Amino acid sequence: MSTASDKLATRILLGMVLGILSGAIVRFLSPHLPGLATVSDWVVPQILEPFGRIFLRLLFFVIIPLIFASLTRGVSQLGRLDRLGPLAGRTFTFFFINMSIGVLLGLTVMNVLKPGTRLDSDTRARIEEQFSQDVAGHQERADNMRTQTTQRPLAWLVDTFMPANLFQAVVGTSRDRVGDVLPLILFALLIGAAATTLPEEKRVPLHSNLETIVELMTRIVGWALQLAPYAVAAMMASVVINLGLDFLKALSVFAIGILFAMAVHLFGTMSLLLRLFSRRSPRVVFRSIRTILVTAFSTSSSSATLPTSMAVTRQQLGVSAPTAGFVLPLGATMNMSGTALYEGCVVLFIAQVYGVNLSIFQELTLLLLAVLSAVAVAGIPGASLPLIMGLLANFGVPPEGIVLILGIDRLLDMARTTLNVGADVVTCVIVDEQMARIPTSTD
Ligand code: ASP
Repeated sequence: MSTASDKLATRILLGMVLGILSGAIVRFLSPHLPGLATVSDWVVPQILEPFGRIFLRLLFFVIIPLIFASLTRGVSQLGRLDRLGPLAGRTFTFFFINMSIGVLLGLTVMNVLKPGTRLDSDTRARIEEQFSQDVAGHQERADNMRTQTTQRPLAWLVDTFMPANLFQAVVGTSRDRVGDVLPLILFALLIGAAATTLPEEKRVPLHSNLETIVELMTRIVGWALQLAPYAVAAMMASVVINLGLDFLKALSVFAIGILFAMAVHLFGTMSLLLRLFSRRSPRVVFRSIRTILVTAFSTSSSSATLPTSMAVTRQQLGVSAPTAGFVLPLGATMNMSGTALYEGCVVLFIAQVYGVNLSIFQELTLLLLAVLSAVAVAGIPGASLPLIMGLLANFGVPPEGIVLILGIDRLLDMARTTLNVGADVVTCVIVDEQMARIPTSTD
């Protein structure tokens, strides 16, 4: 499995390099060869862009069912786990803390570096011109949102999460626009909560049906990813032909910023949590879990890393079987610190590129939504892409902007998965030690 996925990763990277190179060649030769300019003026809008769009639209297709089914499933599962009392309580608290700190770190780094603003005025003007139609609608939405969030934040919150007409809000107002995912998130949480009160004979089939929907959507994402090497090549070529190479500078700062925030979260925050809530030395823990981190990095999949995490955590760190059996599988599907951090950063970066300003209140909403939607992300490569597109649409940023980061997504996926899994293991170690202390403190 990891070999096939490694090959795909290499092909996507190769697609990106080929796309950038061919785009750059066309762009530099066009002024000298008028024939080439005429051909590329035709090929870019007629062939390259529609082809890249197939890939994007496949991801768009799955957004609504995927968010609904995976969140509902997650919450209905949560209700059952509720009975586990202290273990579940501690586990979820640490999951939430991990993810929130992760997004906060990511957003801080993006606000300091502002990678999306590092484009020269020419490139910015071209982005505006190229996406002017798209951007106009989104811009209006973003401005509207900013005014509402600053002038009447509470009313905005209620209207956004609870529109009078749920289906119209979710479906969207036009064929070209992705609908709002926020009311869908709330609705899915409510259905999940309601499901926990159903009798077992109704809840079990519901759970397995939701599981099937998630699996179906995941397969479609898998097909989209098979197309990715070609689509990324086509999209990168058209971006470079239209915008030039300047955006690569912004992209590098974005990638370096994210990797820095992820490293600080993995080695800094996690060490701090270990020191504060356990008696283990962070150095020893990190040395023992090297194999887990390397597996996560090379597979880009929390789920594929689960067997290694279980074995190493039990054998090398001596975590008890009940804690490892509870925290790790749950963490592989719900505790996505790296993914949450990444989602927040991508939304902010693409918003900066398109010149969409987010208010502090919007950034706080983004933090909360990045955490919630990361919970809905499956532990497989590239699983967060459709959810990021849903978030972009919600913040008034053109979801097509995701094209800009697709070429390096796989590399960043390896990094975010390592953080996802690292945070699961650290949570597991801390919760295990805390559970061991309970009998002595209550007896
Ligand atoms: N690849 C990630 C994981 O398995 C999910 C994602 O962010 O795409 O943890």
